[in-house]
Amino acid sequence: MDIYNLYINENEYADLNADEAVRHLSEAVQINTTSYMDTSKIDYAAFDLFHEKIQEWYPQIMKHGEYREIDHSVLIRIEGSDPSLKPALFMAHQDVVPVVEGTEADWIHDPFSGDIADGYIWGRGAMDIKEMLIGELESLEYLLAHGKQFRRTLYLAFGQDEEVIGSGAIAIAKHLKEQGVELEFVMDEGGRVGSGEAYGADIAVGSIGMYEKGYADLKLTAESFGGHSSNPFRGTSLGALAKAIAAIVDHPLDSVLPASVRETLRILAPYITKGPLKEAVRDIDANEQQIIAHYLSHPDLNSQIHTTIAPTMISGGSQAGNVMPQHMEAVINFRLAPQDTDEALLEHCRRLAGKDVQADFIVANEASRESRFDSPGFRALQNVLSHFFKDIVFVPSVNTTATDARSYEGVCDCCMRFEPFLEDQDIRTMGVHGTNERISIRAYLQGIRVLIRMMDETC
Ligand SMILES: [Zn+2]
Repeated sequence: MDIYNLYINENEYADLNADEAVRHLSEAVQINTTSYMDTSKIDYAAFDLFHEKIQEWYPQIMKHGEYREIDHSVLIRIEGSDPSLKPALFMAHQDVVPVVEGTEADWIHDPFSGDIADGYIWGRGAMDIKEMLIGELESLEYLLAHGKQFRRTLYLAFGQDEEVIGSGAIAIAKHLKEQGVELEFVMDEGGRVGSGEAYGADIAVGSIGMYEKGYADLKLTAESFGGHSSNPFRGTSLGALAKAIAAIVDHPLDSVLPASVRETLRILAPYITKGPLKEAVRDIDANEQQIIAHYLSHPDLNSQIHTTIAPTMISGGSQAGNVMPQHMEAVINFRLAPQDTDEALLEHCRRLAGKDVQADFIVANEASRESRFDSPGFRALQNVLSHFFKDIVFVPSVNTTATDARSYEGVCDCCMRFEPFLEDQDIRTMGVHGTNERISIRAYLQGIRVLIRMMDETC
């Protein structure tokens, strides 16, 4: 799929100052806002510089808006004239992930060069997610410069540490809650565009993330006495662990079609021309079990309808073939579906693990709340995206990774995760958190057009 073939209406907003928008992103990439779990390694002066630049580059926003820093996160507010309309919030994060040590030489352009070359803007953050952060500012500045009068209050929110703990987004959401703010919608990074093949559809599918799955690491511990392996009468810790792991993997919790999957199938139905879903989607309720079976059998669909189970770590085996092991541990990673609580999952695993294996969570977070898609925000985003990209159907879906958006669920029932910067899949897969991160100028500018129209139409 050549993604650029799907671009339409690239001639809109022809007076957008593309060179300046590109230069701003290039300079933003040059400011090294890498975040680390160990906060002593973070260069907060870089964040301060980034804030100075934002205030310098966007005079209209500074003139008409209210700029606030909460710790090193940024919240900008443009007041709308109609207080009966709930505000909208466009977000992104300022931080970037570290460049993997030892890979520096693999970068064609230095990761913090912000080089503009061969039609791309190069460097860490160009695709995750400074293009969206700068793009939102460019869009708002553009609208204000054109005399746009906002009816709906609009916020821009830029967390400082999405890649590590997301404390910035939590603090901003808390601030909004204290002010009594309830949001109409939130727009954040995430989502994806891919072929409709998995569904048997002849059209590309754009998945807008409406919730995030949960995350849990379960530690299994088993003990045995060790000793000579010639008399393993009571079994070994390794044997007990292996049985427990197999039992858990073989007994997944129930699969359910979440509301977003049902809506996806309803939207896609007219485009599904082959495969088992073709007939099944005519009556989703009656064919639920058949649809679930298809999802479970498909590598790209299965994780959407159940809690996935991935044994990932094991340690403590003995050092010799004739010596029995003693203390052993294993970790199973789960991504929780919305229908499962962490409590129910733990109880289920403990039952399956048996009395010889101890099972405890190291960490456990349930799925985020499923956002509403029968909402003006979602419909507007669908329409605006369809205005700039042809032959893609946009559907509500689960976001595959965690984002800051979940922090806003206490003040918003429509948190949408979709970055409108549609880039070639290979460039995206390699670049995001990887090497040679970059964005094409074309994808960047088209994304800005989406944001301008989205802000203009909804606010
Ligand atoms: Zn990101």
